[in-house]
Amino acid sequence: MSKRAGIFISMLLGAVALTGCGEPLTGQDEVAKKAVSAQAINTPVVSDELRLYVFNCGQIRMNSVEAFGLSNDETDVRELVVPCYVIEHPKGTLLWDGGLPSATAALPGWSPEVQGNSVRLDKTLAQQLSNMKFDLNSFDYVAFSHIHFDHVGVANEVKNATWLVQEADFDAAFLPEGAPLGPAVEPDLLRELKNSETLKLNGDHDVFGDGRVRLISAPGHTPGHQVLLIDLQEYGPLVLSGDLYHFRFNRTQRRVPLFNVDADQTLASMDKVESLVTEEEAQFWIEHDLALFNTLKIAPDFYR
Ligand SMILES: [Zn+2]
Repeated sequence: MSKRAGIFISMLLGAVALTGCGEPLTGQDEVAKKAVSAQAINTPVVSDELRLYVFNCGQIRMNSVEAFGLSNDETDVRELVVPCYVIEHPKGTLLWDGGLPSATAALPGWSPEVQGNSVRLDKTLAQQLSNMKFDLNSFDYVAFSHIHFDHVGVANEVKNATWLVQEADFDAAFLPEGAPLGPAVEPDLLRELKNSETLKLNGDHDVFGDGRVRLISAPGHTPGHQVLLIDLQEYGPLVLSGDLYHFRFNRTQRRVPLFNVDADQTLASMDKVESLVTEEEAQFWIEHDLALFNTLKIAPDFYR
């Protein structure tokens, strides 16, 4: 999103947050939910195979794609999907990317257009997880591709997980008082998670120690942007792009969004990730690609 769009959408979401978000849990619901999460925490081995679950965590609609380094006649695409993913590994679980702020779901349908942009979230991740074996209290790890508001929307609801974050993004989210924030960064969305156990990274990181789920440092969009490489047995190796690209045209033409914090660093990250994709013979999913998303298996179905 452009800086202006980010700010306006945030203002809009701020208004939504004031009106409350979803139904409050009743006492009984709360007890039931706690029992479920306690069970999940005490069940370290959830599956004996590596699995990837895909969720719809929102959509973004825009009148112009110029902020992404494209001209409006280069692509017809004006709508992006905002996915979340759960990776289940024999040694634990990882939530990758957190979607739009959950408060967005309090608005039915598309939000009013502000500066040519609109957002929607039909079901929160918490609601989508309600019939599954994990919930927001039971993940072992949480990692976001980067700290923009459309990737950390559930952050404050995630309890008990270790936050895997590139130190440069952590520092960019929690700047000294008065320092100007980067575009689309909303520190409030990370306020609660900041108190969780945190592993600050300075480069690539092997999440479960067997090379099958790896965070790949790819800075430039934000100072600590990263992508995820998953080595699925049946589907094969797969890279989840974060916001290395938003549109297919960004990838084929190496176009850098105007609001990236470092254009040269972005191009170097593109080179690094593309080499990895070639080397690993990996599939590559542009996370925001709605046309691709519409072909994917959605949770509770999964990739193995
Ligand atoms: Zn994004």
